[in-house]
Amino acid sequence: MASLQVSGVTVSFGGNRALDGVALTAEAGRVTGLIGPNGAGKSTLFDVASGLRRPSSGQVRLDGRDVTRARPSARARHGLARTFQRLELFGRLSVRDNLLVAAELGPERRRAEQVVTEILHRLDLTDVADTSPDALPTGVGRLVEVGRALAIRPKVLLLDEPAAGQDAEETERFAELLRALTEDGTAVVLVEHDMSLVMAVCDEVYVLDLGKIIAVGPPEVIRSDETVLAAYLGD
Ligand code: ADP
Ligand code: MG
Repeated sequence: MASLQVSGVTVSFGGNRALDGVALTAEAGRVTGLIGPNGAGKSTLFDVASGLRRPSSGQVRLDGRDVTRARPSARARHGLARTFQRLELFGRLSVRDNLLVAAELGPERRRAEQVVTEILHRLDLTDVADTSPDALPTGVGRLVEVGRALAIRPKVLLLDEPAAGQDAEETERFAELLRALTEDGTAVVLVEHDMSLVMAVCDEVYVLDLGKIIAVGPPEVIRSDETVLAAYLGD
């Protein structure tokens, strides 16, 4: 069964349709890419999936359960976590406490401290655990944001441009992390502009343009799809 299933989702801002009948399925153990030009509606789709924005029509299902009307906190309890394109970390808290706040919402809240210690280690953040995230370079801040999402032990993980601001070495390590997460059975949805990362880690790629899915397929097919190229060239 699909871990995350979005269907027929429409969102309008005034007269502007940011999403128009969008359907997307993300399965456990796979990385599903979501690409498209700026303003295509990618972040808005994450807002709908995570419960920050109610669509005017359409459905969101988590493991088959209809959560279209569920609050973000309820979706988190059902295993959904996300990161934000603009970092949304707590600057007054340490890196460790940013993760702890999230771990205390998750299914392993009784052993939250251990969960956080494990994740800090996994992301190589132990050395900066007592620092404020505001004091870190963007690439490291992105990892903290991913760590916070992981702290709720998600089954479905939505990542909004997680590699923006990372250098080549950080991005390569990040690709390895994504592969390890899918081996653990997580369903990952990756919004990313770095096409080499998308091509390297995604099992399937959805292309969004002006609020509509214009192509879906394996990365090697999407890369040479004429409709997709035209959308990127602003045709
Ligand atoms: P992407 O993440 O693909 O760059 P977004 O989802 O951020 O795209 O935006 C999709 C469209 O919706 C854009 O036209 C954007 O200007 C518009 N939009 C997004 N958020 C808002 C908002 N809060 N109010 C009005 N328009 C918005
Ligand atoms: Mg965006």
